[in-house]
Amino acid sequence: MRFVSVAVPVPFLDVLTYHVPDSLPLPPRGSRVVVPLGKRIITGIVVDPNAVVNVDETALDTIKPIAEVLDDEPFLPGPVVDLALWVAEYYACGAGDALAAAVPSTQAHKTIRLATLTAQGHDWQGPALRGRQKEAVEILRGAPDGLRVPELNARGISTDVLQRLAERGLLAFRHERIERDPFATGAVTTPVNSSIGRTLTGEQARALASLGAAAATGRFAVFLLQGVTGSGKTEVYLRLSALVQQQGKSVLVLVPEIALTPAVASAFREAFGDRVAVQHSGLSDGERSDQWYRIRRGEISVVVGTRSAVFAPLTHLGLIIVDEEHDTSFKQEETPRYHGRDVAVVRGKHEQALVVLGSATPSLESSQNAATGKYTRIVMEKRVQDRPLASVSVVDMRLEYAEYGPDVILSGRLKNAITHRLDAGQQSLILLNRRGLATAVFCRQCGGTIECPNCSVSLIVHSEGRERHRARCHYCNYGVLVPKACPACKGPYLERRGFGTEKVAAEIVAIWPAARVARLDRDTVRRKGAAADILRSMAAGAIDVLVGTQMIAKGHDFPCVTLVGVISADVGLGLADFRAAERTFQLLTQVAGRAGRGTELGEAIVQTLYPNHYSIRHACRQDHAAFFADELGFRRAMRYPPLTALVNLVVKGSDARAAMTDATTLAHHLRDSADAGRFKVLGPAPAPMAKLRGEYRAQIFLKGGNRAGMREAVLAALAAEPDLRRRVSIDIDPVSIL
Ligand code: ADP
Ligand code: ZN
Repeated sequence: MRFVSVAVPVPFLDVLTYHVPDSLPLPPRGSRVVVPLGKRIITGIVVDPNAVVNVDETALDTIKPIAEVLDDEPFLPGPVVDLALWVAEYYACGAGDALAAAVPSTQAHKTIRLATLTAQGHDWQGPALRGRQKEAVEILRGAPDGLRVPELNARGISTDVLQRLAERGLLAFRHERIERDPFATGAVTTPVNSSIGRTLTGEQARALASLGAAAATGRFAVFLLQGVTGSGKTEVYLRLSALVQQQGKSVLVLVPEIALTPAVASAFREAFGDRVAVQHSGLSDGERSDQWYRIRRGEISVVVGTRSAVFAPLTHLGLIIVDEEHDTSFKQEETPRYHGRDVAVVRGKHEQALVVLGSATPSLESSQNAATGKYTRIVMEKRVQDRPLASVSVVDMRLEYAEYGPDVILSGRLKNAITHRLDAGQQSLILLNRRGLATAVFCRQCGGTIECPNCSVSLIVHSEGRERHRARCHYCNYGVLVPKACPACKGPYLERRGFGTEKVAAEIVAIWPAARVARLDRDTVRRKGAAADILRSMAAGAIDVLVGTQMIAKGHDFPCVTLVGVISADVGLGLADFRAAERTFQLLTQVAGRAGRGTELGEAIVQTLYPNHYSIRHACRQDHAAFFADELGFRRAMRYPPLTALVNLVVKGSDARAAMTDATTLAHHLRDSADAGRFKVLGPAPAPMAKLRGEYRAQIFLKGGNRAGMREAVLAALAAEPDLRRRVSIDIDPVSIL
């Protein structure tokens, strides 16, 4: 009897064993098979085509047969199957969960009907054709590849006419699959300056020489390309990618959300044309799967995509680039909870490819790997054409409040700077990492705020359009009309406190009514293509002041921006997250890097309540080395990553007590194995977001040097308490711990 192991996309399930009936061919590894599972019939992926079964003869009969073999060649390439299985093991999720991330959504391809002349139609001379039929033959003689039926219809030839020609044997119909080109649909359209003929800067040339030499060895290595904002990293990526393609190998480029940073994707598209596939969340399922099949067929040599593109079915991989490697969007915050950057490094190792991690503000993890020699660091510390970095100054908002009261949004210095830019016809970017109009509704009588019934946060007031006078939860989207009286004490004195981007934009319009002000945040980019529209207007100079959340800090290259204002640099610092200082440093450095990318000098003004906090001081001097040293000291003292490994377990329950009780049970099991596994168990405690989307959450942290030991202990604890399995989320190397 022949047996295969199959991974099915069902949460928490291990691979299952099936037997292959003699009537079916043996499916290869990575192929899709249809299998029975309980009462259902589902599609799975073969992970082992020669499974060995260790049960006695009588039990063999209980192994079910596969129902159908869908592919006679591997659907997923072997290395992608290996990568998904690695993800399943490392992140402690099911093999099927991990493989599901590697498989495109199965949607039928769109096809289109074409009409072409037959040989008989081409030679047709007789006078028997009249009117539309004659016209159709004449049109089609000029189109040897045929024409789309809708196009002929548009030219006055009805489908009926074509049908009659087909009946006379003069014309044939043929179906062709259409592949949607995401560029053609306008999803990614920011133009880039063509780099042909450009001379590299000294730093670019040196970086390219080292990376090119590493690529030529055909062996795995990881480089950290640490280049300040505007140092021209993209150009290095492009030239390196060209070298690797000349060696007959393919290139994978991972980028943060493409809708916000279309520049890198378009640069690749411009350089390598339709050998490039672009994969991101803005594509429809159909567009995505068209591209997936093109990659699978080997028609593509460069894939640019967001985190899930790390599973792209490229073969002969020579180079993996992770741009803005510090970006938190590389971490998936749902099962499988993988980190795209880390999986990229593993893929590079499996396939002996060169891995390049690029950033102006590398993560603590990658910086530490460079410091210990695991990665090779290449530094580019000058901007191209010797443009200076923006000068950064800090405004202490405590002094501003003391003088002008607590409602100040724009400090005197920032106001002056904006006025200057408006007078000079230059652009400004204003950052505040909070959306909405007011961030809390506060009752002056009882002191309460209006909170979300589902989540432990206060509701945010919005004012535009249908959102007018609505308070909304930014986690679960619950919304209510702002009440006239306090729901708790019926007091009539409700006050709006705090402010977000919407309020800042309104304030700017109020001060400078003639200024063209726009806003870029999750509220304004709901519509597909809206972000691209705003970015395009900005690039075209149709906006004077752009207000936004961290979306405006991403790698945009706006040459006419000479001022960056940060309204409140400390938004992140109050959070109970050990990465808060790192986030603040990265955000401030990145946003300051948006100023002065053209010929004019750039300036950044940072408003804060903590001017002496090291993340703010070092960001002002854009001094990554100093920040890294201070932050590493903090992480060492607190035993946080990257100096130790962390696992975050969140136990959910329908009430706070139930969640804590279950978490306590789990913690007992974990403590029993902690000594042997050399790790610490912290908690349980209510999570910082103790309630989220109606579920109560308790948290347990495991800390230690032995990641494998911690993972085994978690799996053993859950095996001992199978009822808890569905209520616990396991996050290995968590990025967000709220
Ligand atoms: P980074 O990603 O490092 O912040 P970019 O790759 O966006 O920097 O480059 C900054 C700007 O400099 C872009 O407008 C880019 O087109 C331009 N640029 C890059 N390399 C060169 C070069 N060698 N000569 C002239 N301009 C360059
Ligand atoms: Zn909520």
